[in-house]
Amino acid sequence: MKFYIKTFGCQMNESDSGIFAAFLEQSGYLPTDNIDEADIAIVNTCSVRQHAEERAFTEIGDLKHFKTNNPNGKVVVVGCMAEKMGKELKQKFPQIDLLIGAKDAQRFPEIITKSGLLKPSTDIVTPKTQGALITTFITITRGCNNFCSYCVVPYVRGPEEYRPAEEIIQEIKGLAEKGLKEVTLLGQNVNSYRSVMSVPDPKNEESFSIKEIDFADLLAELNKIVGLKRIRFMTNHPKDVSDKFIKTIGTLNKVCNHIHLPLQSGSDRILELMNRKYTFDYYYGLIRKLRYHFSDISITTDLMVGFPKETDKDFKLTLDAVNKIKFDFAYVFKYSPRENTEAFKLKDDVPKETKEKRHKELLDLCNNTAREKNSKYIGKLVEVLVESNTGDEYFGKSKDNRTVSFQSSRNLVGQPINIKIKEAKIHSLIGEPIA
Ligand code: SF4
Repeated sequence: MKFYIKTFGCQMNESDSGIFAAFLEQSGYLPTDNIDEADIAIVNTCSVRQHAEERAFTEIGDLKHFKTNNPNGKVVVVGCMAEKMGKELKQKFPQIDLLIGAKDAQRFPEIITKSGLLKPSTDIVTPKTQGALITTFITITRGCNNFCSYCVVPYVRGPEEYRPAEEIIQEIKGLAEKGLKEVTLLGQNVNSYRSVMSVPDPKNEESFSIKEIDFADLLAELNKIVGLKRIRFMTNHPKDVSDKFIKTIGTLNKVCNHIHLPLQSGSDRILELMNRKYTFDYYYGLIRKLRYHFSDISITTDLMVGFPKETDKDFKLTLDAVNKIKFDFAYVFKYSPRENTEAFKLKDDVPKETKEKRHKELLDLCNNTAREKNSKYIGKLVEVLVESNTGDEYFGKSKDNRTVSFQSSRNLVGQPINIKIKEAKIHSLIGEPIA
């Protein structure tokens, strides 16, 4: 028995798909990348951008052939589109056997078991997904309370829920004992993380008290885990980035020197229309504090062009912001209206050609900065945690989140290796290992 999973969207969906895969493997199913071999096909969907939805529609549409070729095959659609469209999606694509909305994604094992879609398997399967992981995503919060005016996430994923700190710590400790080197903590807004922990009373070791903890405290606890080498986290919301958090990350040796801090626009007028709850000056203040406390921190961001009412002047402010901050990398998106959001009520009044033009101009600027910043690594030694390989070509990440590739005839996956950088591209560095 085999399963096929196609995942669209963010790292949280990637993480959820990993959990679905682990459960299916425990249930006796083997993973396959070939849909023709699968007994069950899962599409984990994303509604954040129109483009992601269109790709998922195509994937689900193609599963009609899967059902024709394999009438006993089952199709499960999970995630934001299942949450948002519900029965409408099933009417459009009758090949779907089961929908699991984003709010229920955590209950995947229970729901799919109750659905009766899984067949008892006699195959003996050694689960691969939770084996000797080198790096993994761990979700610490789900949902979002922020209601940025362009975003469907609060509607499809619901309000914020925080995983208990002790559960997160125990899970990562367990994985580190099995060889995990790096963890990326996930949440729509990790900075609003809250939990409680029981801590021993320093005066009486047998007595415990309950302590409220925030994201900085969680990082400090995870930093103590033996065997774990690197801690990453995303995504951050500027309005919730506290001074305590900034000072803490600068002191924790396992926290990687990288932060993804979405700016979206350099115009206060547009930021207000987006309901982002900060101004550019506030954001720039955070950048200065981050660079003060964590001098070699790399900063990446998300930027959006063509939001309703964005004028040339607003766009120029975004260009100015990018020139001032000099991000290490930026993801640049064109606004697309999403039903049910506040921004959907505004007229999508920036012409398509203007969106395209602004997108290109901003992307070129960001890419030039990224290339310039990467070129400063040429000739330098970078410690890379090796994650994967294709033949003799190995890939890994530097602590500041740069993808580094190099050639080796030795199997180096899972090891930290010093690489001398020879070449810099926009998205990556190329080098050679130093013995
Ligand atoms: S913070 Fe804003 S953009 Fe991010 S998930 Fe929440 S509503 Fe969406």
